[in-house]
Amino acid sequence: EYFQILNDKNTKFNNVTISFDGIDYFATFNIDFAEEEWELTGKNVGCDINSNVNGWLVTSDEEKEYFDIDHENQMVKLINRIMAKCTNGSKKWKKQKIRLLKWYHQRSNKLDDYIEKLSTEMVKKYDTIVFEKNYSKIKILIGGEQNMVFPLTKFITKLQDKFARHKPQAEGVVFVDAKYTSKKCHFCANINHELDVKTRKWKCPNCGKTLDRDINAAINILNRGDYGNSLENAK
Ligand SMILES: [Zn+2]
Repeated sequence: EYFQILNDKNTKFNNVTISFDGIDYFATFNIDFAEEEWELTGKNVGCDINSNVNGWLVTSDEEKEYFDIDHENQMVKLINRIMAKCTNGSKKWKKQKIRLLKWYHQRSNKLDDYIEKLSTEMVKKYDTIVFEKNYSKIKILIGGEQNMVFPLTKFITKLQDKFARHKPQAEGVVFVDAKYTSKKCHFCANINHELDVKTRKWKCPNCGKTLDRDINAAINILNRGDYGNSLENAK
């Protein structure tokens, strides 16, 4: 995507800055370019935010997103263990230190790439993306024992930026009150007060339909918590 912009003959270069962080060189381009316009699709989606174990993001289209950073974390852990056995500041220690920085780099690059790709994909696919209002209180742990938290606010800001830049005519990101989104059956609007947090699949005691906890919540979020006032007809 970026190379395309840099190679576009309509792109105007204001300046280029080269920086070095001890391992890699970076080129920062200050440019003016024409924004690509993305077509409206007429599609809307509700998103339920979860733990990474059950899919950190579950959509009303029944898609579940997972983010895997386990390998990078294991490498960081392993190198830390090797370093602990080396004499501080020794040649071997320094070599491991560089290795460690590379893995830290790789880990944060992987996360940035993932957020970049997923946000582009979703803004291209949907005109409206609905989240629950209190999303910033939800912590998605992605780092195993190191308890790294997924940068959810960064992801949502990316979506908003891309809507503003590429699809200004779309409604974009919308937030709704998430009250009862998990406990309410999206088929009949019955609220199941007995539902506990551990139950992933449940049968509605009123209409008898079987529901996936997170997909049901995502559909309720898409319906903006208001049964019968849906953007799309719930399945
Ligand atoms: Zn029901």
